[in-house]
Amino acid sequence: SAEVIYGKQLAEDLRQEMKEEVSDLHHRGIRPKLVVVIIGEDPASMSYVKGKQRASEKVGMDSDLIELSEDTSEKELLDLISRLNKDESVHGILVQLPVPDHISDQKIIEAIDPRKDVDGFHPENVGKMLTGQDTFFPCTPYGILVMLNRVNITLEGKHVVIVGRSNLVGKPVGQLLLNENATVTHCHSRTKDLQSHTKKADILIVAAGKPSLITGEDIKEGAVVIDVGVNRVDGKLTGDVDFESAKEVASHITPVPKGVGPMTITMLLHNTIKAAKRIHNQ
Ligand code: NAD
Repeated sequence: SAEVIYGKQLAEDLRQEMKEEVSDLHHRGIRPKLVVVIIGEDPASMSYVKGKQRASEKVGMDSDLIELSEDTSEKELLDLISRLNKDESVHGILVQLPVPDHISDQKIIEAIDPRKDVDGFHPENVGKMLTGQDTFFPCTPYGILVMLNRVNITLEGKHVVIVGRSNLVGKPVGQLLLNENATVTHCHSRTKDLQSHTKKADILIVAAGKPSLITGEDIKEGAVVIDVGVNRVDGKLTGDVDFESAKEVASHITPVPKGVGPMTITMLLHNTIKAAKRIHNQ
């Protein structure tokens, strides 16, 4: 039966290290600060941003939550971002997506100063990632990379198959692993014979948002399985992988919850500390 990779435990270890780093920065007069902006009252988004804020405070970082009403105009939001861009006490700016339909996600993403873009969604940062330069990497893909590194899984030459090609998860995780010299295949909703691809994976990353899309039969013996999916089924959180059947075939597997999720927030904290250090030339 597979070794279970608990992202939650790794995340706690990393946050302990970050706490020391933040305290060290405080002694040098630098106070890393994250500002999270949320528009509207979607309960899932609200719980995500509360989690992000709580985690920032736990590592000793300053954080502000700005809650705007559903009817905030695009101009008001852009003006707020412009003020945060100029505010020297702010190092990381995160606007919780999706924003309401009358506001353009893309305009918001592009308005954030790339040096404060701790989500790593600004086209300048996406381009830097694509060309293998140091920058802010999107948090979920980056969390997956760090998790694989921390459990000593070699990436070079490995065949990584990714189910999903979103801008948020699928595409960037493929890019990051390609940068580590993996051989990467992307599958998506139009892929024919999904199993023929997933069965070849040394490392299978599933980010489709479809409960139990992948079962033990879709996995090669000894593969590493990373389940990114977060689905609510009968009030319970589950991933995209049928954990019980998959763990009999895989060598390593991440659970849902307590797998990828906690790593995502941890990398947001990492990016904010990085932003603060860069802005202060450290
Ligand atoms: P998305 O809906 O934007 O993208 C889903 C992708 O999966 C698409 O590229 C689509 O082509 C592909 N897909 C859908 N059905 C498929 C099928 N039957 N066969 C093959 N491919 C299929 O979603 P997203 O934003 O990339 O998120 C994916 C999942 O990851 C969701 O469950 C989301 O909640 C979760 N998620 C988790 C975290 C975390 O921190 N744990 C972060 C972001 C997203």
